[in-house]
Amino acid sequence: MLRTLKFLWIWIIIPQTAALEFKYHNTKELESFLQDINTNYSSITHLYSVGTSVTGLNLWVLAIGKYPKDHTVGIPDVKYIGNIHGDEVVGREILLHLIEYLVEMYDKDTMITNLINNVRIHIMPSMNPDGFEITQREKPDCSSSEGRYNKRQIDLNRNFPDAFENNTLLLELETSAIMDWIEKNVARFEPETRAIMRWIMNETFVLSTSLHGGALVASYPYDDIQPAIDYSGYSRCPDDDVFVYLAKNYSYSHATMYNGDECVTTPNFKDGITNGADWYYFSGGMQDFNYIWGQCFELTIEMSCCKNPPASYLEEYWNDNKESLINLLKLVHLGIKGQVLNVNGTPIKNAKVEIQGRKNKYPFRTNEWGEYYRLLLPGLYTVNVTVPGGGSNITELQVLNNLQNFSAMVFDFHFNITANGSSSSNVALQQDFGTASGLQQNVILLLLIVMFSVLIC
Ligand SMILES: [Zn+2]
Repeated sequence: MLRTLKFLWIWIIIPQTAALEFKYHNTKELESFLQDINTNYSSITHLYSVGTSVTGLNLWVLAIGKYPKDHTVGIPDVKYIGNIHGDEVVGREILLHLIEYLVEMYDKDTMITNLINNVRIHIMPSMNPDGFEITQREKPDCSSSEGRYNKRQIDLNRNFPDAFENNTLLLELETSAIMDWIEKNVARFEPETRAIMRWIMNETFVLSTSLHGGALVASYPYDDIQPAIDYSGYSRCPDDDVFVYLAKNYSYSHATMYNGDECVTTPNFKDGITNGADWYYFSGGMQDFNYIWGQCFELTIEMSCCKNPPASYLEEYWNDNKESLINLLKLVHLGIKGQVLNVNGTPIKNAKVEIQGRKNKYPFRTNEWGEYYRLLLPGLYTVNVTVPGGGSNITELQVLNNLQNFSAMVFDFHFNITANGSSSSNVALQQDFGTASGLQQNVILLLLIVMFSVLIC
């Protein structure tokens, strides 16, 4: 009797959700699943919609994190988006399984718990629910179908502003002015695209993936090319080294992607990765918009040779991609992060944080809390922080791999802004992890050489 009561008690206190079935979930079923997860794991999840599709279906997002409702200073935001092409359906289902896995492993698996405590993970299973619904009326088809586009027959992954074509004005605006520009140019963009742009510009996204189908490869910016430049195929962005690292991490964590030759209809991708334009170039892609204006490093993951396979294949796709999707979340902690602050501790927003040798088309800027995040591989970097009004702080930093701490290295920059609006830097550097900067290391090295010289004399 006592034993029965004990089991009953455990049954009552542990959230009860049936394991998610490997099948295609229509819009109603998807909403119901997300609502159940949100109810059963309310302390670590937040369900919200960023807008609606042409027919009025919600673009749902489930945020998972220690503080799921709002951005927290020091905790980066990551997003995973599925189904931008309505007929590329695998990602949509895989993201539901990822959600289920993450919430169930919280407080059970140390690594997953650390991830959720130190990253706010936003998962949008479907960016094109209208297209998906069209696809489900047809038989599964491995090649492209009508459901690729939104309800107005627009390819959403060609509908974003493009930095290479006719948008030089947009490269000169402050972040808040970009939002105004989007609102003033509403007619140029589909409702789904507008919702995503607002979302990107309002949150502090650092890393992202968009999940596609029809190939097996991790693709990275740029997707578009500079028409005036002699085009050789590869459209290299300033952070190419970081993107290659991220893409390889995905392909080599995947069951087979790293082989590069799994699909008969696509080229042989060395290491299972490709620069977007090196495969084929196009303008108006979400990946380039994320990187250029959202300061968010987005990979395009082609996760299945077949765009719309029978549901019986879904479990295999989940097993193939699970480790890659989880490993990528950890990599949001590459590089450096911190705040740009006035001496009185007030955050300085819109400060430019630039890395020497990496000329981003749209310089990375601090958010309203004065925060910045820069994904960088370990190495010596010169960071130039410029505050509105013109004061600057140029600092040499030795960036180490700090992934094991589930945090990028923290460097805050302090300025002394005077009453008349001008500013001057005081070159104060905060290093929360006790690591020596490049300058400090050079001093230590010099002292060691002097001591060694004295000894041998
Ligand atoms: Zn696609």
